Amino acid sequence: MSESTATTLAPQSGSTSRKVPRIVILGGGSVGLYSARRLRRRLGNREAAIVVVDPRPYMTYAPFLPEAAAGSIDARYVVAPHRRALKGIDALQGKVSEIKHAERTVQITPEEGEPYWITYDHLIVGLGSVARTLPIPGLAEQAIGFKNVEEAIAVRNHVLGRIDRASSTWDPELRRRMLTFTFVGGGFAGVEAIAEVEDMARDAVKHYPSLSPEDLRFVLVEGSRRILPEVSEELGGYTLEQLRKRGIEVYLSTFLNSCVDGHVVLSDKTEFDSETIVWTAGVKANPVLQNSDLPLDKMGRVTTLATLQIADAEGNVVPDAYAAGDCAAVPDLYNPGMFCPPNAQHAIREATHLADNLARVLRSAEPTDYKHKNIGAVASLGMYKGVAQFLGKIKVRGFLAWVLHRSYHVMAMPTLNRKLAIMSGWTANLLWRRETVALGSIHDPRAEFRAASVPPKPRPEQAAPAAAPAKAEDHSAVPGAEVKPSGASKADDTSPADGTPSEVKPG
Ligand SMILES: Cc1cc2nc3c(=O)[nH]c(=O)nc-3n(C[C@H](O)[C@H](O)[C@H](O)COP(=O)(O)OP(=O)(O)OC[C@H]3O[C@@H](n4cnc5c(N)ncnc54)[C@H](O)[C@@H]3O)c2cc1C
Repeated sequence: MSESTATTLAPQSGSTSRKVPRIVILGGGSVGLYSARRLRRRLGNREAAIVVVDPRPYMTYAPFLPEAAAGSIDARYVVAPHRRALKGIDALQGKVSEIKHAERTVQITPEEGEPYWITYDHLIVGLGSVARTLPIPGLAEQAIGFKNVEEAIAVRNHVLGRIDRASSTWDPELRRRMLTFTFVGGGFAGVEAIAEVEDMARDAVKHYPSLSPEDLRFVLVEGSRRILPEVSEELGGYTLEQLRKRGIEVYLSTFLNSCVDGHVVLSDKTEFDSETIVWTAGVKANPVLQNSDLPLDKMGRVTTLATLQIADAEGNVVPDAYAAGDCAAVPDLYNPGMFCPPNAQHAIREATHLADNLARVLRSAEPTDYKHKNIGAVASLGMYKGVAQFLGKIKVRGFLAWVLHRSYHVMAMPTLNRKLAIMSGWTANLLWRRETVALGSIHDPRAEFRAASVPPKPRPEQAAPAAAPAKAEDHSAVPGAEVKPSGASKADDTSPADGTPSEVKPG
């Protein structure tokens, strides 16, 4: 934080001491970033100070996460850094931990240091959602979510890492376990994630003479009777057919019952081992909202009017407070009695509408209702494959849908330099094919240095006689190693530290 920012944001006794009203935006995601930018355009520096609070220094464009996991888009370009995208706006890095709207204060807990409070005059809540998990045995220990760029890149490196290791593993059972990838949740995020990652994995195994695409096993588990509820039954059915044609096993009306130590048990009694479990089974409003005095519905979302002003169950407006996106229950005026679904299409439009309304209110004008008819849905299912549906009627599939998916989302991606970087990456991938290298150790970069820092063990006095049996044991440490190919002793000599041979290809 710059010195001037620190002075501006220092907790104050009340709004009267401020020269210009302060708008504090909680969350710098789709809602936070788009509403902040719009407000800055609508209101001059003398009309309002704007502050965005987020533990991350960037906004993530989640619809591109499956492509980032597949290596079609560089991870750096699916995020928009706040410092560059939020010109003329203060960005505070830290988690909102409590909201006392009655006192117009929020508590911020930084990554390091003590929590502190800041005051405001107007509040925008864009805290998004978190993965909706269930108390399934083994889930917390084994699974990973797919909601942010860190998770998407970890899934990518993990999948490619398993392929690398499996290619040098002798034990067929271990190999099968390594090459079984389970995704739970057949909505947009889950279907796009499994389709993109499977496409990448099939591409990757081409570079491993000891592996074939048939060695890969991808499993999608969905609790309801269909996938992709966001599109028509027909397109959902088409997608299901495409996934199954590619060999992806799809279990419908089935639940994950347990995955202790990677042993997956489904509700239909199917059991298998899988070292990769990706959880994409829905989201819930950010739980930090429970730590606030704002009105919430049964699902923990902040309740709003169609003007995006926060209001209680009786429709009484909570003054100076607005909300939008995944964390808000915004009435869907095109579907009376329903709420806008949690997606980027609504979040981004709500954000700009909200900003316009707040600017209107600051100028003593009336806010207007947010009304957006769902224009449709587009999903990518891997390179050159996709499905799309517009205005409920127009259905597109295959290559054209894939092009529409890319075109729609690249236009929605914030900042021109991001759009250009993504498009130039796609062009480069077409020319040189995407990179499928596993950078798994990136997630534990100090491992090698730690190992190097361990003082060497004193050498045994009679090293020579003891060394030979120890080597033999190392090699057989690969579980279930039955057949030793000819030349195994040579492989032993050159085997890496984990005992897997580097020269001889396992059958
Ligand atoms: C894999 C995936 C694919 C998707 N694909 C599509 C798609 O194709 N089309 C579509 O329309 N939608 C899609 N979505 C949904 C869409 O991304 C979300 O609906 C949208 O991002 C919601 O915007 P938001 O601003 O409410 O939340 P977010 O964009 O998630 O922003 C919330 C922000 O709040 C921050 N935050 C969290 N906790 C705190 C805290 N305590 N204090 C301060 N800040 C906090 C987060 O860091 C984040 O920056 C997809 C989502 C995922 C996960």
